[in-house]
Amino acid sequence: MSVATSAADMTMATYRRWPVEFVSGRRAVLVDDSGREYIDCVAGIAVASVGHAHPRVASAIADQAHRLIHVSNLYVTEPQNRLAQRLADLTGGMRSFFTNSGAEAIECAIKLARRWAGGREAGRHKLVAADGGFHGRTLGALTATGQPVKQRPFEPLVPGFVHVPYDDVAALRAAVDESVAGVVLEPIQGEAGVIVPSEGYLLAARELCEERGALLVLDEVQTGLGRTGDWFAFQFDGVEPDVMCLAKSLAGGLPMGACLAKPGIAGAFEPGDHATTFGGGPVQAAAALTVLDVIEEEGLVERARVAGRRLEAGLRDVFGGKEVRGRGLMMAVDLGRDVAHDVAERALQQGLLVNDATPSVLRLTPPLVISGGQIDEAVGILGAAWRKVAA
Ligand code: PLP
Repeated sequence: MSVATSAADMTMATYRRWPVEFVSGRRAVLVDDSGREYIDCVAGIAVASVGHAHPRVASAIADQAHRLIHVSNLYVTEPQNRLAQRLADLTGGMRSFFTNSGAEAIECAIKLARRWAGGREAGRHKLVAADGGFHGRTLGALTATGQPVKQRPFEPLVPGFVHVPYDDVAALRAAVDESVAGVVLEPIQGEAGVIVPSEGYLLAARELCEERGALLVLDEVQTGLGRTGDWFAFQFDGVEPDVMCLAKSLAGGLPMGACLAKPGIAGAFEPGDHATTFGGGPVQAAAALTVLDVIEEEGLVERARVAGRRLEAGLRDVFGGKEVRGRGLMMAVDLGRDVAHDVAERALQQGLLVNDATPSVLRLTPPLVISGGQIDEAVGILGAAWRKVAA
């Protein structure tokens, strides 16, 4: 591991970065600037699902870049059209608005919910979200985020948001009245430390939204596109959202998000209501089409399920007594005390990337292409790191 010394870091200090500089990657392995290899159980925070530098994705990007990089959304492009059709096929006909990030997909969902519900004039503009939830850092998404420490320095936030405890049907029932346009939830809370709600929670949220006339907006930015062993995490719960947000792995690492909505809801937007210069550009769309092809052709949804079981079993073995939770290849270990950073640091020194999602929780979101052998090796390194720290 070598520390980047080639140039001063002139970026704003919003990240406490790890002392390692990566120069290349292949599948679930990253290589630093000294040539050292690491097993990657972070995947660029649940982004590199098809693995690093997938040759088909790289070629799709290069081919499209040689043809056309950008024309704006004033004009039609074939890759964006095909991607919208592809996502519609995967979601029973939902319509897409393409963005450049997860936060922007959430912004779009918030605006769409208010537009659909009639907003302040109709007395229906509130959004209900969950404590601990994470939806991004732009002001609307930050307001939806249920984490006061991230919010407080930037107040005043956007009016009209209410937070309720996650996984609490009674609290949701009390909060969702006729002034609520939408309920925004992660099917599994990622940044909060991989919190899986009780069976029936999403279904109850679905029924409640139905009953009260609010939209169910599911944030599948982290859980979507195979990560949890289903194309979308909501499928596990047997519910369908009205609006869904995707991003992260969608374009294989190029910046791309999408807000999808059932046609009758999407139709609330009129020309001029929402816009983006870059969102859904042909290069990102071509990458995303190839990512979806790879997920399908390499059977990565099923792989996430199978590999997830192996990872979970390994973690249970190594962290006996600690809570191991998650689904598919979105797993976490709750260490019960604030040593997650220390364990992640030791793991890094031993050639493994894991994420300290919270001070006490380690999160593992490896590429869906990670091999069984790499999972075993990762678990071995993590176990050794934990034993050192625990001692
Ligand atoms: N929603 C969820 C569930 C996320 O995990 C994230 C990012 O971690 C976001 C939204 C924000 O996405 P982005 O960082 O692309 O804006």
